[in-house]
Amino acid sequence: MRTQVAIIGSGPSGLLLGQLLTDAGIDNVILERVSKDYVLGRVRAGVLEEGMVAMLDEAGAGERMHAEGLPHDGFDVAFDGAHHRIDLHGLTGGKRVMVYGQTEVTRDLMDRREATGGTSIYEAANVSPQGFDGDAPFVTFEHGGKEQRLDCDFIAGCDGFHGISRKSVPADAITNYERVYPFGWMGILAEVEPVSHELIYANHPRGFALCSMRSMTRSRYYVQCSLDDRVENWSDERFWDEIRRRLPADVAERMKTTPSFEKSIAPLRSFVAEPMRFGRLFLVGDAAHIVPPTGAKGLNLAASDVRYLFDGLREHYAEKSDAGIDAYSAKALSRIWKAERFSWWMTTTLHRFDEQGAFGQRIQEAELDYLISSRAARTALAENYVGLPY
Ligand SMILES: Cc1cc2nc3c(=O)[nH]c(=O)nc-3n(C[C@H](O)[C@H](O)[C@H](O)COP(=O)(O)OP(=O)(O)OC[C@H]3O[C@@H](n4cnc5c(N)ncnc54)[C@H](O)[C@@H]3O)c2cc1C
Repeated sequence: MRTQVAIIGSGPSGLLLGQLLTDAGIDNVILERVSKDYVLGRVRAGVLEEGMVAMLDEAGAGERMHAEGLPHDGFDVAFDGAHHRIDLHGLTGGKRVMVYGQTEVTRDLMDRREATGGTSIYEAANVSPQGFDGDAPFVTFEHGGKEQRLDCDFIAGCDGFHGISRKSVPADAITNYERVYPFGWMGILAEVEPVSHELIYANHPRGFALCSMRSMTRSRYYVQCSLDDRVENWSDERFWDEIRRRLPADVAERMKTTPSFEKSIAPLRSFVAEPMRFGRLFLVGDAAHIVPPTGAKGLNLAASDVRYLFDGLREHYAEKSDAGIDAYSAKALSRIWKAERFSWWMTTTLHRFDEQGAFGQRIQEAELDYLISSRAARTALAENYVGLPY
């Protein structure tokens, strides 16, 4: 089998890259380890920057997002018993974000790939990128009980944090930067009207809380929990009690509750691998970097990587110039580190760090007080939250 670009991973980055390449007439094949239904069953991110929204439109996959997604012009920061609105729209000269679940983004991109005849091979086992340090890279894998080989010009490693692409790079060619936070997020999904029509990020001495949503009838709520906590420890009743205690009284009073239908605990991590190009292999999205979800940046960074790589590949094929692919790693990393900084700042400002005690809590409250009283500080928050320019 031969293609121009072999894409490993059918998450948002692989699907988006694949669709832009297909639409530009560049042949590509996606190899995915698990089944299509498994990919569609994963509940993850839900806040899209305008840049990502524009790319989904460009890929012809934006129609349902515009019909069903919820444009948000602001969010609330809560602390010390009160909540304060961050006017994203007003502070950024008219920008906003779109609340639309990653599951839906994935479904729309899969549907579009099917409609445009793109090839995806699901349940491909033992995928292995090879020969990428030379001129003839290829990927081997097993499918339908047979060993297979996909020859290509380039390999895009869009296979997430635990994927094989980054692990295939010799250890001395890659540098990893990592911070693991001493807590996780206990999250639930419930078929209930969100407590507020915009997100609420809450700092509280008992720990962080986030009121988010997937639609006007489906709420996504989180509370900070300890790293060794388990989902089984969290009955619905305990969760609703705890999140209410961490919210200002007026919000807690109007929160509607119902049995949850999904519960999970996610650890929080900051991670960057440098560089993101190794000969003819490119790392894209979570394969190269992870952010804690506090700033809603993970999915959006995957999209900006795709922007830079797609532009570079298109230039390579259409204009016979390698300037774009040569600049890919540096360009992507420059934006990634700013999003890493922002996600780290949101995380350290809003969460309870036990080892920092009451002093740390006071510093956080001073930081938040400054934020709500300074337009400059709010503007810095807003322009990072809606997404820095590509
Ligand atoms: C539990 C969780 C919650 C999250 N919540 C948020 C959030 O609230 N906000 C936010 O902004 N971000 C969030 N994120 C991050 C966001 O979901 C990711 O940044 C986004 O999915 C990155 O897309 P991706 O395509 O790069 O990687 P992924 O979505 O991880 O896709 C990688 C794909 O590659 C496949 N794959 C892996 N290994 C192989 C292999 N060896 N061979 C073939 N295929 C392989 C995987 O099955 C997967 O389908 C969350 C992530 C997780 C894990």
